[in-house]
Amino acid sequence: MSMRVGLGFDVHRLVEGRPCILGGVDLGHDRGPLGHSDGDAVLHAVTDAVLSAAGLDDLGTLYSDKDPRWKDANSADLLRDALELVTRKGFRVVNVDVVVATEGPRIAPHRARMRERMSTLLGIEPDAVNVKGKTLEGLGSFAHGAAVVVQAVALLERSARP
Ligand code: MG
Repeated sequence: MSMRVGLGFDVHRLVEGRPCILGGVDLGHDRGPLGHSDGDAVLHAVTDAVLSAAGLDDLGTLYSDKDPRWKDANSADLLRDALELVTRKGFRVVNVDVVVATEGPRIAPHRARMRERMSTLLGIEPDAVNVKGKTLEGLGSFAHGAAVVVQAVALLERSARP
């Protein structure tokens, strides 16, 4: 059986007046990720990890922020579209692991909902989607709630010949 791993990374500035949507759920924080789409850095990193593992182009290339079609796009729709490309290449997602580093919203109280939501989008069990929150120890310009920094890794297996 052929297994493939992919890595995703994303950073978004957190600003007032934006909903705080991360991992496909609203965290109800007073600042949210700035972006051309809804700015969901968690789903962006996960989507990039999945696309990368399948040997496809990255999120920025497939869903360019210069393209008006993706203005205010729901990142869940981008992930769904990416999964279709991945499936067409004959892969399926085995598991996804995510680290969310931020001093904006607290991640721990929302972990279960984020796992549930992403598992639904990915079509896998919640147990196969993990999310961990980290702080930035008050260091650098990402700290003090100024940004959300996300790393994601995805494991895919070849389910069928494309
Ligand atoms: Mg992004």
